[in-house]
Amino acid sequence: MPEQKSQVKRESPLELSSDRFRELGYQLIDRIAAFLDSLPQRPVTPGESPAAVRQALAAERPLPQQGEDPALLLSRAAGLLFDHSLFNGHPRFWGYVTSSAAPLGALGELLAAAVNPNVGAWPLSPMASEMEAQTVRWIAELLHYPAGCGGLFVSGGNMANFVCFLAARQAKAGCDLRKAGVDGLRMRAYCSVETHTWMQKAADIAGLGTDAVRWIASDHEGRVDVQALRRRILSDLEAGEKPALVVGNAGTVSTGAVDPLPELAALCREFDLWLHVDGAYGGFAAALPDAPAALTALCEADSVAVDPHKWLYAPLEAGCALVRDPGRLRDAFAYHPPYYHFGDAATNYFDLGPQNSRGFRALKVWLALQHVGRAGCVEMISQDIRLAEELFAQIPEYPGLEAFTRSLSIATFRFVPPDLEPDAAAVEPYLDQLNGELLTRLQNGGEVYLSNAVIHGKFALRACIVNFRTSSADIRALPPLVVRIGKEVDAELRPAGLRTGASISNPPSNPPVR
Ligand SMILES: *Cc1c(COP(=O)(O)O)cnc(C)c1O
Repeated sequence: MPEQKSQVKRESPLELSSDRFRELGYQLIDRIAAFLDSLPQRPVTPGESPAAVRQALAAERPLPQQGEDPALLLSRAAGLLFDHSLFNGHPRFWGYVTSSAAPLGALGELLAAAVNPNVGAWPLSPMASEMEAQTVRWIAELLHYPAGCGGLFVSGGNMANFVCFLAARQAKAGCDLRKAGVDGLRMRAYCSVETHTWMQKAADIAGLGTDAVRWIASDHEGRVDVQALRRRILSDLEAGEKPALVVGNAGTVSTGAVDPLPELAALCREFDLWLHVDGAYGGFAAALPDAPAALTALCEADSVAVDPHKWLYAPLEAGCALVRDPGRLRDAFAYHPPYYHFGDAATNYFDLGPQNSRGFRALKVWLALQHVGRAGCVEMISQDIRLAEELFAQIPEYPGLEAFTRSLSIATFRFVPPDLEPDAAAVEPYLDQLNGELLTRLQNGGEVYLSNAVIHGKFALRACIVNFRTSSADIRALPPLVVRIGKEVDAELRPAGLRTGASISNPPSNPPVR
């Protein structure tokens, strides 16, 4: 190179000077802190149409040719998100199973991204790999699951359940299924009809096909009918099928029902089946000192999926798969290509799951578990459950509200105009329509956020409290709001045939569901 001196430091358009980084970071943190303070005063959601959101974003704008000022970009991004988002961190957000996120977790994500360890292999992430292992062990300890288990972080409950399902598939195949495929094995998986839809995706992805899932009836409380399960296993065996695993729910997604895990464990021992527990919603409630035996028996399972981005309040995403025999994960996932030279002195996480490069999801959970300790986890989960109980106890005090179920931190109920007789054949379809529209208005209104369940065929409103910001006052605001909006919707929708008096002559066909 005759003329040009070789560059000492490369000028890159993405690089930021440390002063600039500090300045941008301080500004952003100030804005986030103000945003968090403002949450209770904001609507839970602006309830905008997709067209309005796309317009705010100028969604059709082409890719810019030249770069822009990062301060402007961060400020624009924050403004767009703060003004056009649904806030699951709002004290009155109780939809689906979505928690408020710990602010410390947001800082943890920043730190993880700054160091950017690739937690796919130990040499690429020495400390991060060990911190993940420690966090997995702490989660097992929290649940009273054997601390010698294997486990890893994944994106969420679905992925954690898939990982366990695939571990079970290989463990119970009785052959090298990973090479030969599932052809002709006729492996069968059992779960209650209340099981989350991950089950279909798992059976599909695992090559068993959704026909391999045996959906077992649940009882009046939404728990799997163990006798029906046993009968189905026996009839499958008789037909030459291969029962492989049973999935138990530690908190169903609709109503928080807990399957009788001790009985499922006994059944799995008897038939030599893999017991997997889906604890994505309720698993962490096993940490409570007064947790029922039905739930604490998850410690007997061959594998458990939990979701730190639910009841450990981690920012999205964080799921965690635990497998009692750590070797089973390697059996299900490890390959050793020639271009990897990681050694086996420590855990290389790409051996334990489907991912290759992996981010440092464990850090935010590592921070949270030490920020609050076991005592803090127990306190927050207990309070959420207590608030759901409080809500459920208030429902019958309001003429016009009918209580359905309460388990863990989920309460379900509906609006029934006081002059209508529920369960009358002519009334039920209207109540479904009425409550469906009521839910839509509540969701768009921004005062609270609920989702729904269908309970014995009836459309119910559903509040699931996994929210460390929710107070008693927030809960007390809900029933009068539902009654007020319910009456408005009823006044608009009620068909002429159901005007007062029309239905009273109709005797109730069923006892009300409790
Ligand atoms: C939320 C949930 C899932 C799915 O978890 P994601 O984190 O949404 O992937 C699975 N099972 C149950 C019981 C759940 O509540």
